[in-house]
Amino acid sequence: MQNFIYSGSSSRIVFGASSLQHLVREVEALGAQRALVLCTPRQREGAQRIAELLGNRCAGIFDGAVMHVPIEVARQAREHAQALNADCAIAVGGGSTIGLGKAIALESSLPILAIPTTYAGSEMTPIYGITEAGLKKTGRDARVLPKTVIYDPELSLDLPAQISATSGINAIAHAAEGLYAHDGNPITSLMAQEGIRALAQALPQLMDAPHELEARSAALYGAWLCGSVLGSVSMGLHHKLCHTLGGSYGLPHAETHTIVLPHALHYNAQAAPVAMQRIGDALGASGAAQGVYDLALSLKVPMSLKEIGMPEAELDRCSEIATQNAYANPRPIEKAAIRALLEYAYHGRRPG
Ligand code: NAD
Repeated sequence: MQNFIYSGSSSRIVFGASSLQHLVREVEALGAQRALVLCTPRQREGAQRIAELLGNRCAGIFDGAVMHVPIEVARQAREHAQALNADCAIAVGGGSTIGLGKAIALESSLPILAIPTTYAGSEMTPIYGITEAGLKKTGRDARVLPKTVIYDPELSLDLPAQISATSGINAIAHAAEGLYAHDGNPITSLMAQEGIRALAQALPQLMDAPHELEARSAALYGAWLCGSVLGSVSMGLHHKLCHTLGGSYGLPHAETHTIVLPHALHYNAQAAPVAMQRIGDALGASGAAQGVYDLALSLKVPMSLKEIGMPEAELDRCSEIATQNAYANPRPIEKAAIRALLEYAYHGRRPG
């Protein structure tokens, strides 16, 4: 067996249907008296419910979370937290809202309690991202990792089908890259394989029965495992491509992950055969790249970069940017092959 280093996450996880009922107990366990609730404008109603549960422990609601955490919004939220004398932030929502919580924690060390309602997995990572002057800067800092995460599948019952599918494949991408990460280990590999298996089974069920609590629970469980993997290992080519497409072209995060993943896996297939076998097995498919492609196709999500607004004329420049400061990857980064990968992803062609 390989030698390895494994650092488990220090987050406390409260998982299960109706676990939101333990919110006050969990806020007390953090020693907090005045929690600021964070959400997007669209999830204001859910945040209001959290505020009611908190009673006099609620300092207020900030409903300005948006994708990619613009620095102006982060500053506004930090000032709001300070003005209200908040001693904790509760992020209820997807990766965008949790990302805003992380941006607050980065400067204030305020403890974050996350209540994820998508499958993006950000709540399990010490990775933050802040966008300034059109550039998204990311980093790792232990201060931004939520201290407590409440996973209550009942809160995802109304998550629209397309966000369920694409944020679920975003989570699968974390686990897939974890299986070939240079700093992976047997524990993260177990979590990755189980996370992919749970999501690959649950996502198609959710398309037919979005209010099926068992399938929502399985998907959230998978998201937790996949997010935990991302929190422990380094990202590879797939995440680099998605950061480039999101950061330089403003493409939507989860959709971009969903479109690119089969092509990134195809690119790495020969260089990481054991990981590919494990991904394929977890998907119940004969191959990793084809398996992810077929899963996405069955979920009726956008399959091409063209559909989500990538300009074809930018593919050359995009491959230039994506090959600069490359992340560690099992197959060396070859510019011509990356350009060809992007061409496939642009048209949404089946990889191979
Ligand atoms: P999101 O947070 O942007 O949410 C998408 C939309 O769905 C929002 O309008 C939100 O309000 C709505 N929504 C969320 N949950 C809902 C629910 N249960 N019912 C109805 N509507 C709901 O999308 P996302 O895919 O979760 O997150 C994407 C962001 O997360 C990106 O900015 C990405 O960079 C970040 N991210 C970060 C990490 C990390 O480790 N740092 C990991 C994954 C994603």
